[in-house]
Amino acid sequence: MKLLIKNGRLIDPAGGVDRGMDILIEDGTFKEIARSINKASGMTVIDAKNLIVAPGFIDIHTHLREPGQENKESIESGARAAAHGGFTSIACMANTNPVNDNRSVTEYIIARARSIGLVNIFPVAAVSMGQLGENLVEMADLVEGGAVAFSDDGHCVMKADLIRKALEYAKMLGVPIIEHPEDHSISAEGQVNEGFISYKYGLRGILKAAEEVIVARDLILQERIQSRLHLTHISTAGSVELIRNARRAKTPVSSDATPHHLLLNEELVQTYNTVYKVKPPLRTEADRLELIRGLQDGTIDCIASDHAPHTRDDKDKEFEYAPFGVIGMETSFPVIHDRLVRTKRLTINRLVELFSTNPARVLGLKNRGRVHPGLPADLTILNLAKRFKVEESGFRSKANNCPFLGWEGLGAVEYTIVSGNVVYSRKER
Ligand SMILES: [Zn+2]
Repeated sequence: MKLLIKNGRLIDPAGGVDRGMDILIEDGTFKEIARSINKASGMTVIDAKNLIVAPGFIDIHTHLREPGQENKESIESGARAAAHGGFTSIACMANTNPVNDNRSVTEYIIARARSIGLVNIFPVAAVSMGQLGENLVEMADLVEGGAVAFSDDGHCVMKADLIRKALEYAKMLGVPIIEHPEDHSISAEGQVNEGFISYKYGLRGILKAAEEVIVARDLILQERIQSRLHLTHISTAGSVELIRNARRAKTPVSSDATPHHLLLNEELVQTYNTVYKVKPPLRTEADRLELIRGLQDGTIDCIASDHAPHTRDDKDKEFEYAPFGVIGMETSFPVIHDRLVRTKRLTINRLVELFSTNPARVLGLKNRGRVHPGLPADLTILNLAKRFKVEESGFRSKANNCPFLGWEGLGAVEYTIVSGNVVYSRKER
């Protein structure tokens, strides 16, 4: 099996490459990367003229709902959605049923992903048994079973002593802890950002402090422990500032923001449309602009979808009773490209860092996020001039709770290639 990708512009920030390059893939790995490689017999050729060739995109925060809620999403439908969105690797959170707090669940996810064979799926195991916030999981055993990180996502690790222990074990094991920063005693039954809009519309609010006190707490612990701490779905200007200051003080920390927090604000909840009910909630325009500054100045390392599929019935409930969350794997790249790269707030090179180079580094995936001979041949090939329109009929996900429905703009995934196999091609839709 030989695949030759010709005439593309390779952007590989990890290798310091941004130029026209041909790429030869053999038996699933990169064989040769050079200015010009001639087609030989037995090679399949993809002409990438006028296209961007990037190391495969990695979504570090997804919910696949299997085991337990396959009516919302399954590992297979989630993998199809990932491939459609340009993601060659995804990390899936532990809040399944049963919770991924033991090796048998981790191994089940890995085995399912292998048998489906579309994209790489890296399980994130829970920090606490049952995600109940009391007892630490068997972290070493889970790492042996294939867990790449630990998170109680969906919940915050509320006990400071438990997150302290988790960070210390994570340091020994060389894996990251992914924190969902939310003080539940503050957020309580809140539905939306607390402020003018929550008061005006009689919706219970969630203070920004619910997020910021946990960000601050974890950074204080991390300052001493120096483990690997990743703060996910950062939503407030205050959190950005706390992380920025911690990095200046050389405290090791990484973070991500979601496309919905980067592109939408709390004004949308005035429609009472439950597709805008997310956690953390959509914040103010000032928060949104500070998140973008965080992407620009390097404070925020990754863009992660927090893909959270729900059934139509779930989301059709009244605002107060509907579950939190939106899907995102299939729209992350086009909406971010159109609204932040086309408008010159980010360069395409920075976008590749945010979607590939940095997620690989954060998760410690040494073979991913770059294009180098001998590594698994995962690539995302992009057409920045192609128009997109977000339509429900196009989704591979089982869910349709997408806040970007109807959005149009420029930027499409042309091919998603995993270990040399084309797992998505736009033209073959
Ligand atoms: Zn979360």
